[in-house]
Amino acid sequence: MTDAPARLAAFLEQLEEARRARDVTVVVVTKFHPVELVRELAATGHRDFGENRHPEARDKAEALAELDLTWHFVGQLQRKKARQVARYADVLHSIDSVELVDALDGGEPGDDRPVRDALVQINLTEDPARGGIEATGLDALAERVAASDSLRLRGVMAVAPLGEEPASAFERLAAHAERVRTIDPAAEWISAGMSGDWREALQHGATHLRIGTAITGNRPVGG
Ligand SMILES: *Cc1c(COP(=O)(O)O)cnc(C)c1O
Repeated sequence: MTDAPARLAAFLEQLEEARRARDVTVVVVTKFHPVELVRELAATGHRDFGENRHPEARDKAEALAELDLTWHFVGQLQRKKARQVARYADVLHSIDSVELVDALDGGEPGDDRPVRDALVQINLTEDPARGGIEATGLDALAERVAASDSLRLRGVMAVAPLGEEPASAFERLAAHAERVRTIDPAAEWISAGMSGDWREALQHGATHLRIGTAITGNRPVGG
């Protein structure tokens, strides 16, 4: 007899504890679904919801204002609309250019607006037309967000490219996240993982999973 069985049990217990200690936020992405679906999910106690288009996002946030939900904007942010989005979105996942941050910081002096949590979106593909900043511009953008009056640098966000193993893409993302933490050690969030690849994202340190169809079911036509 050895104490291996006891050590196994102790190890599994520690593993379970470590799992519980890791704070993971599930952002339920409700784009194209009616506000009633969000209400139904909120009634279970869930608080974090994501949308990718203004003004659909604004309409839902306004319709459910009394529920005090946390709204995550995960779609591409147009410079001209960004300040409107920042009025209702608590977390902006898709900060992808210095010009966008300039637009968010601009406005009338004395404008009363909340400071929003912000993630720098990184383009993990080779295609510059896809959303997100390319790796070469990451440091400058993260520094700009860290210096912003209207944003609080929280970390990074990415979508795994098609045609690549998500695990290898998320591994690169984790390295980028580490670089951003040298700019601000508090920028610990990694928004990664959708219905099809959240397990791989979790393995590579995701703190925010953006889950749509696995929870909402298929999106209505148009989605
Ligand atoms: C729609 C969307 C999701 C959710 O995708 P599912 O595959 O339905 O889970 C996550 N992230 C972004 C940026 C999205 O636009």
